[in-house]
Amino acid sequence: MLQVGVNGYGTIGKRVADAIVTQPDMELTGVAKTSPNYEAQIAVERNYPLYAAIPEKKDQFAAAGIEIAGEVEELVEQSDIMVDTTPSGIGAQNKELYEAHDTPALYQGGEDADVAETSFVARANYEEVAESGAEHVRVVSCNTTGLSRLTAPIREEYGIEKVRATLVRRGGDPGQTGRGPINDTIPDPVTIPSHHGPDVNTIFPDLDIDTLGMKVPATLMHTHSINMTLESEADAEEVRELLEDESRLFVLSEYLEIDGAGKLKEFAMDAGRPRGDWWENCIWGESITVEGRDLYLFQAIHQESDVVPENIDAIRAVTGLADYEESVATTNETLGIDGRLGHTDRPDREPQPISR
Ligand code: NAD
Repeated sequence: MLQVGVNGYGTIGKRVADAIVTQPDMELTGVAKTSPNYEAQIAVERNYPLYAAIPEKKDQFAAAGIEIAGEVEELVEQSDIMVDTTPSGIGAQNKELYEAHDTPALYQGGEDADVAETSFVARANYEEVAESGAEHVRVVSCNTTGLSRLTAPIREEYGIEKVRATLVRRGGDPGQTGRGPINDTIPDPVTIPSHHGPDVNTIFPDLDIDTLGMKVPATLMHTHSINMTLESEADAEEVRELLEDESRLFVLSEYLEIDGAGKLKEFAMDAGRPRGDWWENCIWGESITVEGRDLYLFQAIHQESDVVPENIDAIRAVTGLADYEESVATTNETLGIDGRLGHTDRPDREPQPISR
């Protein structure tokens, strides 16, 4: 069993930890936290060994009556690989600690690309990363993951001349009470392109992509407005079928009557998904339109969870635990990404019960 440690137990870290414990080939060595808040309490209730991320703050856990297993350095020592899910910029500072123990590490999209030897999206470059022998790998951001997953099959099937994407981004996660805007629509950044396009180029270096970013008073999900000029002619229905065949793209059927992120989250919660998570891109089926060689669509990206399956696959790619097909199949099965939610509603397919 591969021993996996998680450093930084917040929005992404707690989800990655929960995903690790469901993997048949991994064991959660423990999670490191800075302070004994409600998330630390849940970690204890889930029997996750809890380590103090900042040794000087160790006493705070004792004062709150929360028992810890040790300090983060011990967690690194005991782990075959670390998943760093600390806030942007802290991962780069932690790299020294992982290197000192010769422990491979994954970093998140808030870090600069050069924190790692390579960036990762399973659908795009799993085998390449595995073969490279890279030990420090960055799982790209939620938006870059969403754009790359969509780009991969379309590029393979039709070729892409140019991608233009406008990202309408949530102001903050639901727990980020201090973020905004609360009553505005902000070009963010106002300069073009936003950093997302160049970030997608860390996955597809030769892709011509321009991205524009905005921030709005919403917390649930990001929404992308996509235009891709293809290299060859396409048909909207064929594009739709191509996307439906991708396990991490969820094409929303019209009759579901999902008009936005609110209903999407409600749907995920009704389906019994933990925290109402959407690990897949959610693409509005009726938005898939082709005019000449121009493809248009809208997709919603759940910023808090789409990178979770990618982290699990990246663990296997870096440690050589499995090949691409096996890893994705295992990750999808354990998390519950089985295509059934997305595909039961096609008239030509047999209805099946929603999984819980
Ligand atoms: P978060 O603030 O929710 O969680 C980070 C956790 O790390 C917090 O619990 C914080 O207390 C803890 N922490 C702070 N300093 C630490 C240290 N020195 N050592 C250990 N832990 C420390 O942040 P998040 O949203 O989970 O983001 C983590 C990373 O994932 C960032 O790089 C971010 O850009 C990236 N990411 C975030 C999202 C998102 O929308 N939330 C999506 C994709 C990627």
